[in-house]
Amino acid sequence: MVTRIGIHASIEALFPPEVLRDRLAAVDPEVVVVDTDEVDAVDALVTFAYEDAFLDAGLDWIHSVQAGIDRFPLEEFEAAGINLTNSTGTHGDSVGETVAGYMLAFARRLHEFRSKQERKEWAWAEWDAPFTLSGSSLCVVGLGTLGRGIAARADALGMDVTGVKRTPTPVDHVDTVHPSSELHEAIGGAKFVALAVPLTDETEGLIGAEELARMRADAVLVNVARGGVVDQSALADALRADDLGGAALDVFETEPLPADSPLWDMDDVIVTPHSAAAHREYPDRMAALVRENLRRIDDGERLANGVV
Ligand code: NAD
Repeated sequence: MVTRIGIHASIEALFPPEVLRDRLAAVDPEVVVVDTDEVDAVDALVTFAYEDAFLDAGLDWIHSVQAGIDRFPLEEFEAAGINLTNSTGTHGDSVGETVAGYMLAFARRLHEFRSKQERKEWAWAEWDAPFTLSGSSLCVVGLGTLGRGIAARADALGMDVTGVKRTPTPVDHVDTVHPSSELHEAIGGAKFVALAVPLTDETEGLIGAEELARMRADAVLVNVARGGVVDQSALADALRADDLGGAALDVFETEPLPADSPLWDMDDVIVTPHSAAAHREYPDRMAALVRENLRRIDDGERLANGVV
């Protein structure tokens, strides 16, 4: 039974926590915005950040407003008897469109023209730089919510889409699905490689120097997963050596990306501030997930998007 839900102040990183509180105004439990030192006064918490103080605050349920749960210590949650739910299933459209935007920028040189506009420079890109996405190839690594959202848009743009999935069963909009054991073959022939896996022990450093060397010299790496999935210094080396055509990066080993990172200044690198999923309806989607799980708690059902 949930009588009081806390909206943790850390949600401010994504949107004002009061907006989510107001979206949940009609639920039975009282909904309050709380700081870390107030979490022991609620039974359930909706949060962006993880704080150790959550573990012994007597919470029954924590909902993460992100899909990735790599920052949460799952074993400790299990030991403390706290149910953890996440927000996977909600970012396919927003991240799919962001990735389509990155790929269109590279194909049509839009990022290059934007930089020229800042200098009031009226000049074409090199004559052989622009291409079309139609007929270009994309390999999507990880075919969950994000991966499928990316694949659907790429297919609509006429791209040849392949993918990598632990269990290589067919997926809509993906011509060939490779098992994880064929990662190298899968990424080897693709103009774009998009990463959409969670950060786990298995995926940490999944794309390192060896994988980058396997990719085409004109390939573009797109990372909307987590920074730790890529060896960032190997990536910077490959870009510097022109062994890779470019990168579109939303996530980094350290966030915010430090000012001295070489990635900021590379012409063919698009840096976005972990914003691929940003959406003005984000609070509504989070409210819908919380409402659904409150209903399930009332009806004695298993929580949706349960992690622990
Ligand atoms: P999801 O759970 O719907 O999909 C993840 C998929 O990856 C699953 O199908 C899983 O089977 C697969 N997978 C796991 N390990 C794999 C491996 N080694 N090889 C191939 N596939 C593997 O999650 P999602 O909503 O698609 O999000 C995926 C990840 O993307 C999240 O965990 C999060 O870290 C990140 N993410 C980032 C943003 C952003 O703003 N940039 C937004 C949402 C999610």
